[in-house]
Amino acid sequence: MEAWQLAEAVTLRPEAFGGMAFHRERGITLEVDAEAYRFLCTCREPRPLPPPGHPAARLVPQLARLGFLAPAEDGRKAEDGRKAEDGRKAEDGREQVQPVPHAPWLGDGVTLSAPETVHLAITARCNLSCPGCYVPRFDAGPELTTAELHGLVDQWAQMHVFQLAVGGGEPLLREDLFDVLAYARERGIVPNLTTNGMLLTPDVLRRLEWAGVARVNLSWNGPGGGGQRRAVAQALRMLLDSALQVGVNLLVTPALLPGLPRLLARLHALGVRRVTILRPKPPAIPSEAGAVWYAANRLRRADLLRLRAIMDSWQGVLALEVDSALVGLMGDADPATLRWRGIHGCAAGRRMCTVWPAGRVTPCSFLAGPSGSDPSGQTLNPHSAFRIPQSQIRNPKSAGDVRQVDFAELWARGENWNALRDPTRQPQGGCAGCKIASQCGGARCVARYECGDLFAGDAECPHFGKGATCAS
Ligand code: SF4
Ligand code: SF4
Repeated sequence: MEAWQLAEAVTLRPEAFGGMAFHRERGITLEVDAEAYRFLCTCREPRPLPPPGHPAARLVPQLARLGFLAPAEDGRKAEDGRKAEDGRKAEDGREQVQPVPHAPWLGDGVTLSAPETVHLAITARCNLSCPGCYVPRFDAGPELTTAELHGLVDQWAQMHVFQLAVGGGEPLLREDLFDVLAYARERGIVPNLTTNGMLLTPDVLRRLEWAGVARVNLSWNGPGGGGQRRAVAQALRMLLDSALQVGVNLLVTPALLPGLPRLLARLHALGVRRVTILRPKPPAIPSEAGAVWYAANRLRRADLLRLRAIMDSWQGVLALEVDSALVGLMGDADPATLRWRGIHGCAAGRRMCTVWPAGRVTPCSFLAGPSGSDPSGQTLNPHSAFRIPQSQIRNPKSAGDVRQVDFAELWARGENWNALRDPTRQPQGGCAGCKIASQCGGARCVARYECGDLFAGDAECPHFGKGATCAS
């Protein structure tokens, strides 16, 4: 009888609603109910196909198509050839799959036992000074040492964190970067890297390959200037010639929008297959320079509609992903399909968190400001019509410091993150009646900045339709 087995590259993690399965080579995460999770656990050993009518029988073809299950005799072989997997296949696979009926999906506000992804800002040092950079300077103190980072990786491995997204500053300025990345890979965590590309050399690429980095994301927009643009293009060519998976991060501003189709065509001609569109985010801590930059670069409703049209015209040619603050662009999708495809809106403090260079932990890089009880009384957004004083902003502050408290405890208690995790809190304003509100919920960083409330609507969303309002 035909036997099936869990692919070697799958990590399983129990959760209150059932469990999660993460495919380390394809980067796909599935959330499954308790019954499906039990079935997946039994597949660690070869097992015959369940008889027709068995509840698990409906899952096998879908899980096999996504690479989570493989015929027992060649289940291991099927995981070879990471470079050949360019993400398109995974994308296509996701498109074909129907949601599992009756799965009690992770609802808004449910906290996972561990982050899916930890964002590690491994250093605040940088060789560039990009306007709009999110790295705040509040995290003073010596950077976490190699030994401390190894200790953290051990804790994350124990919690079954799936991915480590390493950035900075410019992470290649850390001499022990390769060591930390390799250690994460050794402990079963998939390491990814985001870099401005200026320090890439053939030797660096060989060391990244050695460290088992799954994907290198190159930030396309730095401070600009002809010389720098040429250097980024050169870095991109080197990356594309390597054995690494490559993505390009594009911060799309109103100024970039008119040239976006031409830029996408250029990237495609160079051999890029995966581009992540990033939305400009408001500054996390009060700063006049940050406020001025954001006012000039934020995407308004009309810009978002234009962006959506450009993205539609590239469908099937480039794998275009959006960051969590742009899930609203998919407002006409079916929420169950978004869930099944692992597309979630704001994940701050619920699916991800950020660890800063000196060890502070915050729900997201863009919710990193001072606490709501900050006595400075500064207005976060001096240009907002609402002019909410900083002291009144319900602001999730840092959960604490990994130098003082175990990461697992910081994640579990999240006492300052309750607003983000409260299942009774639903997004307000124009988001309140939106059909994908449970999946998207608007960008918390934008809502906080514009309205002083994490759960205000995302007033720029193209699906808003009512104009900018902070509350219902
Ligand atoms: S209205 Fe709000 S919840 Fe709906 S898609 Fe837009 S941002 Fe997301
Ligand atoms: S606060 Fe939420 S929407 Fe904003 S960047 Fe963080 S995860 Fe994305």
